[in-house]
Amino acid sequence: MKRHRYDLVVIGAGSGGYAAARTARELGASVALVDSGPLGGLCILRGCMPSKTLIASSDLVADIRDGGELGVVAGSPKIDLARIIARKREVIADFADYRIEGIKSFPLFEGPASFESPHAIRVGEEVTLEATSFVIATGSVVAPPVIPGLLEAGYVDSDAVLDSADLPKSIVVLGGGYVGAELGQFLFRMGVATTFLIRAKHLLSGEDKDVGDSVTFNFRREGMDVRSGVTLSHVEKRDGQKIVHHFVDGEARSVSAEEIFYALGRVPNIAGLELERAGVASHNISGIDVGPDLRTSARHIFAVGDVTGYYPLVHVAIYQGELAARNAVLGTAEEADYALQRTHTIFTDPQIAVAGRSEKELQAAGIPYLVGSYLFSEHGKAIAINKTKGFVKMMASPDDGRILGAAVVGAEASDLIHEVIVAMYYNGTVAEFAKIPHLHPTLAEIWTYPAEEIAAEIQTNARGASAVAV
Ligand SMILES: Cc1cc2nc3c(=O)[nH]c(=O)nc-3n(C[C@H](O)[C@H](O)[C@H](O)COP(=O)(O)OP(=O)(O)OC[C@H]3O[C@@H](n4cnc5c(N)ncnc54)[C@H](O)[C@@H]3O)c2cc1C
Repeated sequence: MKRHRYDLVVIGAGSGGYAAARTARELGASVALVDSGPLGGLCILRGCMPSKTLIASSDLVADIRDGGELGVVAGSPKIDLARIIARKREVIADFADYRIEGIKSFPLFEGPASFESPHAIRVGEEVTLEATSFVIATGSVVAPPVIPGLLEAGYVDSDAVLDSADLPKSIVVLGGGYVGAELGQFLFRMGVATTFLIRAKHLLSGEDKDVGDSVTFNFRREGMDVRSGVTLSHVEKRDGQKIVHHFVDGEARSVSAEEIFYALGRVPNIAGLELERAGVASHNISGIDVGPDLRTSARHIFAVGDVTGYYPLVHVAIYQGELAARNAVLGTAEEADYALQRTHTIFTDPQIAVAGRSEKELQAAGIPYLVGSYLFSEHGKAIAINKTKGFVKMMASPDDGRILGAAVVGAEASDLIHEVIVAMYYNGTVAEFAKIPHLHPTLAEIWTYPAEEIAAEIQTNARGASAVAV
């Protein structure tokens, strides 16, 4: 048995763990990384990057299909899925190689880690690592299927969808979260008849109703079958078809397809870590409990990224990783602030992006706000380039106009949102925002309309109030 000692040992070399290791090393700590492999992390290997690489192909299918409206008829696109998957593998291999080079610049121990005691972990059979502090960054795994008959009938998850050059003729997507919506639309555009079964009234149930409704409306208009208000019952396989039995408003229904895409979420990956030996409190669904400074119930052990059950986003994992490393090495208690970090985007068509708080969150927190919105179908540049789906909205404080949140549904939403993120970072108000020069004609200038609308409303309210005072 070999024993090694470090200031900090990071378990899991994905986005969060790698960020923690780099930050701790920059601060002068001795750091080791442990990973059970494959090396590279979820985002690069089976998450953000492969999905967005594939979606580039399916977006192109839609642009070609819509080309006739711009007077360019390219005919029906021929899809070479083998080439699409090969390109994805090449792109991902490059990203992974670069990341693995970075990972290997640390002492690296490959194998599953499990705690022996609060200050030691075992990696495989041969190695024990002792450390002053630990960062746990073991990510998440696809939630185990709980629908009777699903295991027996068989299904694919996002890992399989991202790497399959062989598509079924039809598929039922169980779940309307972002993974199901992004990849379900990809499959549809690759020629697979796609049915979504979702419990909520609209896809992306975590989003505001107008946001989710807009995406659901556009999915249906494109030809996807989105069935809402569904309670799943059981699955059976008959004559080569997989049949999903369910209820809508208490009425028994069924839908059959060649394949089932199980997209009902992910759960934190804590199996085998033996957290109780280190005194780290956790829960199978919500993950490892952390405080605002990312310390677990054992003060020298931190947890970051998907394993904490917080916003499962790469930028959040990196932010948490860097913060936990600083607290571990410097002995500080800097606290995470998710006010802007909760910002997120979804790469459906239309795309979604949300900065700060949604209307739903503002209402739940009892925070008063004014909202202004504008449709892409009324915006000059969007009309000119034929990207008229969706809308933008901005929410601001009725007192001083400080921007509290914004959402965009539409083309390039994932890029457009950054302007509001910057404004919010600097505590900008709608009146200030409206004064920022915007180039014409651009999609970005659409933000000026909700900003001006709210600024005008605040001014009118203020005039009204002073008139009353007089
Ligand atoms: C299909 C899909 C698309 C996504 N798209 C986006 C997107 O567009 N934008 C976005 O922000 N996020 C996206 N995400 C989410 C994002 O990928 C994750 O939030 C992020 O990668 C989590 O990083 P992490 O560091 O917490 O975990 P991971 O990157 O999963 O890293 C965990 C590491 O721990 C290792 N490990 C696990 N158990 C052990 C153990 N016992 N011992 C040692 N090592 C272990 C694993 O091998 C792995 O390398 C997507 C996810 C999916 C599934």
